[in-house]
Amino acid sequence: MTDVSPAPEPSTTDSAPTEQTVAPEAPTDSAAAAPEAPAGPSFDDIALPAPLRRAVDELGFTTPSAIQAQAIPPLLEGRDVIGVAQTGTGKTAAFGLPLLAAIDPSLREVQALVLAPTRELAMQVADAISSFATSIGGLDVVALYGGSPYGPQERALARGAQVVVGTPGRVMDHMRRTNLRLDTIRVAVLDEADEMLRMGFAEDVEEILSHSPAERQVALFSATMPSAIQRVAQTHMKDPVRVSVSPQSSTVKSVRQTYAVVPFRHRTGALARVLATSDAEAAIVFVRTRAAAEEVGSSLIARGLIAASISGDVPQKDREKIVERLRDGSLQVLVATDVAARGLDVERIGLVVNFDVPKEAESYVHRIGRTGRAGRSGEALTFIGPHERRQLKNIERATKQTLAEAVIPSPRDVSKHRLAAQLTQVPERIERGRLDLYRELIGEFVAENGLDPLELAAALGAMSVGDEGPGAPSEEEEFTSAKLAGEDRHERGDRGHRGDAPTTERGYTSYKVGVGHTHGARPPGIVGAITGEGGLHGKDIGKIQIFPNFALVQIRGSLSPEQMERISRAKVGGRELRIGPDQGPRGGKGPRRDGDRPFRRDDRSSDRGGRYDSKRRPFRRNEG
Ligand code: AMP
Repeated sequence: MTDVSPAPEPSTTDSAPTEQTVAPEAPTDSAAAAPEAPAGPSFDDIALPAPLRRAVDELGFTTPSAIQAQAIPPLLEGRDVIGVAQTGTGKTAAFGLPLLAAIDPSLREVQALVLAPTRELAMQVADAISSFATSIGGLDVVALYGGSPYGPQERALARGAQVVVGTPGRVMDHMRRTNLRLDTIRVAVLDEADEMLRMGFAEDVEEILSHSPAERQVALFSATMPSAIQRVAQTHMKDPVRVSVSPQSSTVKSVRQTYAVVPFRHRTGALARVLATSDAEAAIVFVRTRAAAEEVGSSLIARGLIAASISGDVPQKDREKIVERLRDGSLQVLVATDVAARGLDVERIGLVVNFDVPKEAESYVHRIGRTGRAGRSGEALTFIGPHERRQLKNIERATKQTLAEAVIPSPRDVSKHRLAAQLTQVPERIERGRLDLYRELIGEFVAENGLDPLELAAALGAMSVGDEGPGAPSEEEEFTSAKLAGEDRHERGDRGHRGDAPTTERGYTSYKVGVGHTHGARPPGIVGAITGEGGLHGKDIGKIQIFPNFALVQIRGSLSPEQMERISRAKVGGRELRIGPDQGPRGGKGPRRDGDRPFRRDDRSSDRGGRYDSKRRPFRRNEG
């Protein structure tokens, strides 16, 4: 093995420039990107063997992506290559095509080995390589990964598969079981090398490489180049050509990246509205922990979204099923932890939401790399808390770009979006006919009630999108970015008046409950329910204002999610309280909808109605 110059210095050879850095580039979409690239490289400039060239055409790749243009020629020459490139840049073809060019399909022995950090990535790479090899007769690719039986993998190896793509752990297992010998390999590829090392595969990778012939060619692809990778390169590579399609931690251009400041307790509501107004075919929501994945997933399901969650410890079989559902369109939203979503390649993902700010810029890059794939455009939205601007700055610095602030859609935006989607289907529905029944019934109804047909259509529209009108419980979660200034001060502990929220007594937070006059709600009932279910004392409750459809209650300090959940289920006047932080009149955009004089808490002594109707906890005022 020859010496190599230490990275990151470029090694010198006379045959080719050894460091080639080109502008970041997303993989080119065959139809969209190829035509207007006359000056750029073409696959005609790359000496691919005919069957591979045919495969490229059949796959619709018209223009090589940057990493392909840079890496394929030296790899075809037999040089070792270090590629700094992320998923989504077309790196699989960058090493997959030259790898196939090096194989003699008439020999039934392992000639190429690709190591990948995860089962998912190993399967994807194996699929991609198989798709490049369709015109090469007698060429077999086998994927070796854990969590699935050895039998089929053993048989594929015994039949003489020439290309092995596997995770280091399972590859080592097959070597130990003598199913796999590496002394015949010509090419070794380390894909997502940084991930492999991060996942603790360094020793396995070393061991595997040391069992391969010294003269084999090595290609190493990695999104980042930490020193551990540079050491691997020094030990196992010969005078490598370095190519890089993007600066470290850069993110794909095809992804529109934004952030929104959303206090934690509003995140699920904000997320649901972002998803409800998104045009993306499918979305991934990233969370930090397994528990959060489950929680956010269930609350999205409860809101009517077709969602599922995966974390690192979801069995591989289930994970594959979920990914398949995401691919075939039967799943809209996947809530996942970083580990679970690593290497996930689903073209339909048009939106990534970071439910919380990733701790490291690298994780951010990996997360948003799940969208904007295969030449499509994507969007990435990151929620930050009011005090997390520094984390945002870190990401911006590391990715060398500025994220624009996004506006969280309001419930009104959601209704608009839903109705617009329904209205587009109206002409087709009219075209299909059989509307006589409805025309007749509606005609009668309009005549009987002296209604304006437009008013009726508006009410039907509102009902069809689930808008129950002002004061309905569904309105309680309203959070809009415009309100944040007030929230921010509030969260910092400045309990002064919020700019656009109703006046709050010092140290008290204003909450809204979904019961009002029309439901017979009276202050004693509300106080009873809140103290009883929330474990609070009467003195924790401040001013109460009751409107026709809801009421505002000032509560000392703030309620925990568990308290809110318990109180929400309590009933007053036969209706659930559904408590939530008060967002002010229409997000500060207009007056409260009710002209009524609200009842004050002081009214309660004279009031007997609308009691908290729990048998377990009779109304008990605890004035303290
Ligand atoms: P990768 O970075 O290898 O995961 O590739 C990302 C996506 O880009 C895959 O869906 C590939 O099929 C697609 N792709 C790769 N190379 C090209 C190309 N030259 N033209 C169009 N699409 C490509």
